[in-house]
Amino acid sequence: MNKILITPKSFPVTMKEPIELIQAAGLEPIYNHSGRTLTEAEIIELSKQDVVGIIVGVDPISAHVLDSLPQLKAVSKYGMGTDNIDCKRAEELDIEVRVAAGTNNVSVAELAIGLIFAAARKIPTTVAEVKNGSWKRVMGNEITGKTLGIIGAGQIGREVALRARGLCMNVIVYDPYLQDASFFQERDIEISTSLEELLGVSDFVSLHVPATPTTTHIINKTTLGYCKPSCYLINTSRGELVDEEALYDALINNKLAGAAQDVFSIEPPSPNHKLVELDSFILTSHTGAYTQEAVERMALRATENLLSMLKEKSHR
Ligand code: NAD
Repeated sequence: MNKILITPKSFPVTMKEPIELIQAAGLEPIYNHSGRTLTEAEIIELSKQDVVGIIVGVDPISAHVLDSLPQLKAVSKYGMGTDNIDCKRAEELDIEVRVAAGTNNVSVAELAIGLIFAAARKIPTTVAEVKNGSWKRVMGNEITGKTLGIIGAGQIGREVALRARGLCMNVIVYDPYLQDASFFQERDIEISTSLEELLGVSDFVSLHVPATPTTTHIINKTTLGYCKPSCYLINTSRGELVDEEALYDALINNKLAGAAQDVFSIEPPSPNHKLVELDSFILTSHTGAYTQEAVERMALRATENLLSMLKEKSHR
Protein backbone atom coordinates (compact mmCIF):
# COMPACT_ATOMS: atom_id res chain seq x y z
CA MET A 1 0.00 0.00 0.00
CA ASN A 2 1.27 3.49 -0.86
CA LYS A 3 2.06 5.64 2.18
CA ILE A 4 2.15 9.26 3.29
CA LEU A 5 4.81 10.52 5.70
CA ILE A 6 3.55 13.14 8.17
CA THR A 7 6.51 14.92 9.80
CA PRO A 8 5.08 17.86 11.85
CA LYS A 9 5.29 17.26 15.60
CA SER A 10 2.09 19.25 16.16
CA PHE A 11 0.01 17.37 13.55
CA PRO A 12 -3.21 16.57 15.47
CA VAL A 13 -3.08 12.78 15.18
CA THR A 14 -6.39 12.37 17.03
CA MET A 15 -8.22 14.60 14.53
CA LYS A 16 -10.45 12.33 12.48
CA GLU A 17 -10.97 14.25 9.22
CA PRO A 18 -7.42 14.24 7.77
CA ILE A 19 -6.89 10.57 8.57
CA GLU A 20 -10.26 9.56 7.12
CA LEU A 21 -9.39 11.45 3.91
CA ILE A 22 -6.01 9.69 3.70
CA GLN A 23 -7.53 6.26 4.32
CA ALA A 24 -10.41 6.92 1.86
CA ALA A 25 -7.75 7.61 -0.79
CA GLY A 26 -6.31 4.14 -0.10
CA LEU A 27 -3.17 5.46 1.56
CA GLU A 28 -1.52 4.69 4.88
CA PRO A 29 -0.15 7.46 7.14
CA ILE A 30 3.29 7.19 8.81
CA TYR A 31 4.01 9.61 11.65
CA ASN A 32 7.09 11.25 13.13
CA HIS A 33 7.25 9.73 16.62
CA SER A 34 10.65 11.28 17.48
CA GLY A 35 9.15 14.36 19.16
CA ARG A 36 11.52 16.61 17.19
CA THR A 37 12.30 17.81 13.68
CA LEU A 38 13.53 14.92 11.52
CA THR A 39 16.96 14.84 9.91
CA GLU A 40 17.48 14.24 6.18
CA ALA A 41 18.60 10.67 6.89
CA GLU A 42 15.51 9.96 8.99
CA ILE A 43 13.16 11.32 6.33
CA ILE A 44 14.85 9.12 3.71
CA GLU A 45 14.77 6.07 5.98
CA LEU A 46 11.06 6.51 6.80
CA SER A 47 10.12 7.29 3.18
CA LYS A 48 12.23 4.96 1.09
CA GLN A 49 9.51 2.35 0.81
CA ASP A 50 6.18 3.28 -0.74
CA VAL A 51 5.97 6.92 0.45
CA VAL A 52 4.40 8.87 -2.43
CA GLY A 53 3.66 12.08 -0.53
CA ILE A 54 5.04 14.01 2.44
CA ILE A 55 3.20 16.45 4.70
CA VAL A 56 6.12 18.44 6.04
CA GLY A 57 6.69 20.96 8.82
CA VAL A 58 10.14 22.55 9.14
CA ASP A 59 12.06 19.32 8.45
CA PRO A 60 14.65 19.50 5.62
CA ILE A 61 13.34 18.44 2.20
CA SER A 62 16.70 19.04 0.51
CA ALA A 63 17.85 18.06 -2.98
CA HIS A 64 19.51 15.02 -1.37
CA VAL A 65 16.20 13.91 0.19
CA LEU A 66 14.29 14.47 -3.08
CA ASP A 67 16.96 12.66 -5.14
CA SER A 68 16.83 9.70 -2.74
CA LEU A 69 13.08 9.10 -3.11
CA PRO A 70 12.27 8.24 -6.75
CA GLN A 71 8.68 7.25 -5.93
CA LEU A 72 7.87 10.64 -4.27
CA LYS A 73 5.25 12.66 -6.16
CA ALA A 74 4.21 15.57 -3.95
CA VAL A 75 5.22 17.59 -0.87
CA SER A 76 2.56 19.45 1.08
CA LYS A 77 3.69 22.16 3.49
CA TYR A 78 1.94 22.20 6.88
CA GLY A 79 1.78 26.00 6.97
CA MET A 80 3.67 28.65 5.00
CA GLY A 81 7.34 29.22 4.18
CA THR A 82 9.09 26.82 1.81
CA ASP A 83 12.63 27.73 2.91
CA ASN A 84 13.15 24.13 4.17
CA ILE A 85 12.16 22.66 0.79
CA ASP A 86 14.41 22.70 -2.29
CA CYS A 87 11.59 23.83 -4.59
CA LYS A 88 13.89 24.18 -7.61
CA ARG A 89 15.04 20.56 -7.36
CA ALA A 90 11.46 19.42 -6.75
CA GLU A 91 10.37 21.13 -9.97
CA GLU A 92 13.22 19.50 -11.91
CA LEU A 93 12.10 16.10 -10.57
CA ASP A 94 8.40 16.85 -11.28
CA ILE A 95 7.58 16.67 -7.56
CA GLU A 96 4.82 19.15 -6.81
CA VAL A 97 4.97 21.43 -3.75
CA ARG A 98 2.00 23.30 -2.25
CA VAL A 99 1.62 25.42 0.91
CA ALA A 100 -1.35 25.58 3.28
CA ALA A 101 -1.98 29.27 2.66
CA GLY A 102 -4.28 31.22 4.97
CA THR A 103 -4.34 28.60 7.75
CA ASN A 104 -2.08 30.13 10.41
CA ASN A 105 -1.90 33.84 9.61
CA VAL A 106 -4.27 34.84 12.41
CA SER A 107 -2.37 32.80 15.02
CA VAL A 108 1.03 34.22 14.00
CA ALA A 109 -0.37 37.76 13.88
CA GLU A 110 -1.84 37.38 17.37
CA LEU A 111 1.54 36.20 18.68
CA ALA A 112 3.27 39.19 17.03
CA ILE A 113 0.83 41.51 18.82
CA GLY A 114 1.44 39.56 22.05
CA LEU A 115 5.19 40.05 21.65
CA ILE A 116 4.69 43.80 21.11
CA PHE A 117 2.95 43.96 24.50
CA ALA A 118 5.50 41.60 26.10
CA ALA A 119 8.40 43.78 24.93
CA ALA A 120 6.76 47.15 25.62
CA ARG A 121 5.54 46.21 29.12
CA LYS A 122 8.53 43.92 29.96
CA ILE A 123 6.10 41.16 30.86
CA PRO A 124 8.60 38.23 30.92
CA THR A 125 11.06 40.12 33.15
CA THR A 126 8.33 41.24 35.55
CA VAL A 127 6.85 37.74 35.77
CA ALA A 128 10.33 36.32 36.51
CA GLU A 129 10.86 38.95 39.25
CA VAL A 130 7.57 38.06 40.95
CA LYS A 131 8.23 34.33 40.72
CA ASN A 132 11.62 34.94 42.35
CA GLY A 133 9.91 36.58 45.35
CA SER A 134 10.54 40.19 44.30
CA TRP A 135 7.90 42.88 43.75
CA LYS A 136 10.16 45.00 41.54
CA ARG A 137 8.50 47.01 38.79
CA VAL A 138 10.13 47.54 35.41
CA MET A 139 8.92 50.65 33.61
CA GLY A 140 7.38 50.01 30.21
CA ASN A 141 5.93 51.93 27.30
CA GLU A 142 2.40 52.44 25.97
CA ILE A 143 1.69 51.37 22.42
CA THR A 144 -1.26 53.71 21.75
CA GLY A 145 -0.30 56.37 19.24
CA LYS A 146 3.01 54.67 18.51
CA THR A 147 4.09 53.70 15.00
CA LEU A 148 4.34 50.06 13.97
CA GLY A 149 6.47 49.42 10.88
CA ILE A 150 5.54 46.18 9.12
CA ILE A 151 8.06 44.65 6.71
CA GLY A 152 6.19 42.27 4.37
CA ALA A 153 2.56 43.06 3.53
CA GLY A 154 1.38 39.49 2.91
CA GLN A 155 -1.17 37.40 4.79
CA ILE A 156 0.38 37.72 8.26
CA GLY A 157 1.55 41.31 7.81
CA ARG A 158 -2.04 42.32 6.95
CA GLU A 159 -3.51 40.59 10.01
CA VAL A 160 -0.94 42.34 12.22
CA ALA A 161 -1.75 45.68 10.58
CA LEU A 162 -5.49 45.20 11.19
CA ARG A 163 -4.98 44.43 14.87
CA ALA A 164 -2.48 47.24 15.39
CA ARG A 165 -4.99 49.75 13.94
CA GLY A 166 -7.56 48.37 16.39
CA LEU A 167 -5.07 49.11 19.17
CA CYS A 168 -4.82 52.77 18.09
CA MET A 169 -1.33 52.41 16.60
CA ASN A 170 -0.18 54.17 13.44
CA VAL A 171 0.93 51.61 10.87
CA ILE A 172 3.39 51.89 8.01
CA VAL A 173 4.23 48.98 5.67
CA TYR A 174 7.13 48.22 3.35
CA ASP A 175 6.77 45.59 0.62
CA PRO A 176 8.35 46.26 -2.77
CA TYR A 177 6.27 43.46 -4.34
CA LEU A 178 2.89 44.84 -3.20
CA GLN A 179 0.51 44.82 -6.19
CA ASP A 180 -2.72 46.19 -4.73
CA ALA A 181 -2.53 48.85 -2.02
CA SER A 182 -6.29 49.15 -1.42
CA PHE A 183 -6.31 47.01 1.77
CA PHE A 184 -3.90 49.47 3.37
CA GLN A 185 -5.33 52.66 1.88
CA GLU A 186 -8.81 51.77 3.16
CA ARG A 187 -7.41 51.46 6.69
CA ASP A 188 -5.37 54.64 6.71
CA ILE A 189 -2.09 52.69 6.63
CA GLU A 190 0.90 54.36 5.05
CA ILE A 191 2.91 52.53 2.41
CA SER A 192 6.61 53.27 2.31
CA THR A 193 8.86 52.55 -0.64
CA SER A 194 11.96 52.86 1.54
CA LEU A 195 13.08 50.39 4.21
CA GLU A 196 15.32 53.09 5.68
CA GLU A 197 12.37 55.48 6.03
CA LEU A 198 10.16 52.81 7.68
CA LEU A 199 12.87 51.88 10.18
CA GLY A 200 13.56 55.53 10.98
CA VAL A 201 9.97 56.40 11.93
CA SER A 202 8.91 53.16 13.69
CA ASP A 203 8.58 52.61 17.44
CA PHE A 204 8.02 48.89 16.77
CA VAL A 205 9.17 46.96 13.69
CA SER A 206 7.55 43.61 12.88
CA LEU A 207 9.03 41.23 10.28
CA HIS A 208 6.68 39.28 7.98
CA VAL A 209 8.79 38.34 4.96
CA PRO A 210 9.86 34.83 3.94
CA ALA A 211 13.50 33.79 4.37
CA THR A 212 15.10 34.11 0.92
CA PRO A 213 18.60 35.07 -0.25
CA THR A 214 17.31 38.69 -0.54
CA THR A 215 15.79 38.86 2.94
CA THR A 216 18.57 37.03 4.83
CA HIS A 217 19.95 39.51 7.40
CA ILE A 218 17.55 42.22 6.21
CA ILE A 219 18.05 43.41 9.79
CA ASN A 220 21.80 43.98 10.07
CA LYS A 221 24.28 46.51 11.45
CA THR A 222 23.38 49.07 8.77
CA THR A 223 19.59 48.71 8.94
CA LEU A 224 19.64 48.62 12.77
CA GLY A 225 21.47 51.94 12.52
CA TYR A 226 18.35 53.47 10.90
CA CYS A 227 16.19 52.53 13.91
CA LYS A 228 15.39 54.85 16.80
CA PRO A 229 17.13 53.77 20.07
CA SER A 230 13.61 53.50 21.57
CA CYS A 231 12.47 51.02 18.89
CA TYR A 232 11.50 47.40 19.58
CA LEU A 233 12.08 44.68 16.95
CA ILE A 234 9.53 41.84 16.64
CA ASN A 235 10.36 38.76 14.55
CA THR A 236 7.78 35.98 14.18
CA SER A 237 8.99 35.11 10.69
CA ARG A 238 12.38 33.38 10.41
CA GLY A 239 15.67 33.56 12.34
CA GLU A 240 17.64 34.09 9.14
CA LEU A 241 16.16 37.58 8.73
CA VAL A 242 18.19 38.99 11.62
CA ASP A 243 21.98 39.25 11.98
CA GLU A 244 22.01 38.15 15.62
CA GLU A 245 25.53 39.46 16.29
CA ALA A 246 24.48 42.93 15.10
CA LEU A 247 21.26 42.69 17.14
CA TYR A 248 23.26 41.80 20.28
CA ASP A 249 25.56 44.80 19.73
CA ALA A 250 22.58 47.12 19.20
CA LEU A 251 20.88 45.90 22.40
CA ILE A 252 23.89 46.09 24.71
CA ASN A 253 24.87 49.53 23.33
CA ASN A 254 21.31 50.90 23.83
CA LYS A 255 20.82 51.47 20.11
CA LEU A 256 17.57 49.46 20.28
CA ALA A 257 15.14 49.24 23.24
CA GLY A 258 14.42 45.53 22.87
CA ALA A 259 13.66 42.61 20.61
CA ALA A 260 11.12 39.82 20.80
CA GLN A 261 11.39 36.80 18.51
CA ASP A 262 9.54 33.54 17.96
CA VAL A 263 12.30 32.22 15.75
CA PHE A 264 16.06 31.90 15.91
CA SER A 265 18.93 31.19 13.50
CA ILE A 266 19.45 27.77 15.10
CA GLU A 267 16.45 26.32 16.92
CA PRO A 268 16.68 25.67 19.76
CA PRO A 269 19.54 28.11 20.55
CA SER A 270 22.55 26.71 22.35
CA PRO A 271 22.33 26.90 26.18
CA ASN A 272 23.57 30.23 27.61
CA HIS A 273 23.44 31.95 24.21
CA LYS A 274 24.52 35.55 24.96
CA LEU A 275 21.52 37.06 23.17
CA VAL A 276 18.99 34.85 24.95
CA GLU A 277 20.48 35.82 28.32
CA LEU A 278 19.67 39.52 27.82
CA ASP A 279 16.55 40.85 29.59
CA SER A 280 15.94 43.07 26.57
CA PHE A 281 15.66 39.99 24.33
CA ILE A 282 12.55 37.80 24.47
CA LEU A 283 12.43 34.43 22.69
CA THR A 284 9.50 32.04 22.30
CA SER A 285 9.88 28.54 20.90
CA HIS A 286 8.63 28.91 17.28
CA THR A 287 5.10 28.78 18.59
CA GLY A 288 3.45 31.23 16.16
CA ALA A 289 1.23 28.68 14.43
CA TYR A 290 0.86 26.45 17.47
CA THR A 291 -2.75 27.05 18.44
CA GLN A 292 -5.57 24.53 18.48
CA GLU A 293 -7.33 26.43 15.70
CA ALA A 294 -4.30 26.77 13.42
CA VAL A 295 -3.03 23.19 13.75
CA GLU A 296 -6.47 21.85 12.85
CA ARG A 297 -6.74 24.16 9.81
CA MET A 298 -3.15 23.34 8.74
CA ALA A 299 -3.66 19.57 9.12
CA LEU A 300 -6.82 19.57 7.06
CA ARG A 301 -5.56 21.91 4.32
CA ALA A 302 -2.15 20.18 4.04
CA THR A 303 -3.91 16.81 3.73
CA GLU A 304 -6.38 18.11 1.13
CA ASN A 305 -3.53 19.74 -0.82
CA LEU A 306 -1.48 16.54 -0.81
CA LEU A 307 -4.37 14.34 -1.90
CA SER A 308 -5.37 16.73 -4.66
CA MET A 309 -1.76 16.90 -5.97
CA LEU A 310 -1.57 13.07 -5.97
CA LYS A 311 -4.95 12.81 -7.73
CA GLU A 312 -3.97 15.35 -10.40
CA LYS A 313 -0.73 13.43 -11.01
CA SER A 314 -2.51 10.08 -11.34
CA HIS A 315 -4.74 11.59 -14.08
CA ARG A 316 -1.81 12.81 -16.17
P1 NAD B 1 3.10 35.81 2.45
O1 NAD B 1 3.76 35.14 1.30
O2 NAD B 1 1.62 35.96 2.44
O3 NAD B 1 3.73 37.27 2.65
C1 NAD B 1 5.10 37.56 2.56
C2 NAD B 1 5.22 38.99 2.04
O4 NAD B 1 6.58 39.38 2.08
C3 NAD B 1 4.75 39.13 0.57
O5 NAD B 1 3.78 40.15 0.48
C4 NAD B 1 6.04 39.53 -0.17
O6 NAD B 1 5.80 40.42 -1.24
C5 NAD B 1 6.82 40.20 0.95
N1 NAD B 1 8.25 40.30 0.69
C6 NAD B 1 9.07 39.39 0.11
N2 NAD B 1 10.33 39.86 0.08
C7 NAD B 1 10.30 41.09 0.67
C8 NAD B 1 11.29 42.07 0.94
N3 NAD B 1 12.57 41.90 0.60
N4 NAD B 1 10.92 43.21 1.58
C9 NAD B 1 9.62 43.42 1.94
N5 NAD B 1 8.63 42.53 1.67
C10 NAD B 1 8.98 41.38 1.05
O7 NAD B 1 3.57 35.01 3.74
P2 NAD B 1 2.91 35.04 5.20
O8 NAD B 1 1.87 33.98 5.31
O9 NAD B 1 2.58 36.43 5.57
O10 NAD B 1 4.16 34.49 6.05
C11 NAD B 1 5.34 35.27 6.19
C12 NAD B 1 6.41 34.41 6.83
O11 NAD B 1 6.04 34.13 8.19
C13 NAD B 1 6.58 33.01 6.21
O12 NAD B 1 7.38 33.05 5.05
C14 NAD B 1 7.22 32.24 7.34
O13 NAD B 1 8.62 32.38 7.24
C15 NAD B 1 6.75 32.98 8.59
N6 NAD B 1 5.87 32.14 9.42
C16 NAD B 1 6.22 31.90 10.71
C17 NAD B 1 5.42 31.12 11.52
C18 NAD B 1 5.76 30.86 12.96
O14 NAD B 1 5.37 29.83 13.51
N7 NAD B 1 6.44 31.76 13.64
C19 NAD B 1 4.25 30.54 11.00
C20 NAD B 1 3.90 30.83 9.67
C21 NAD B 1 4.72 31.63 8.90
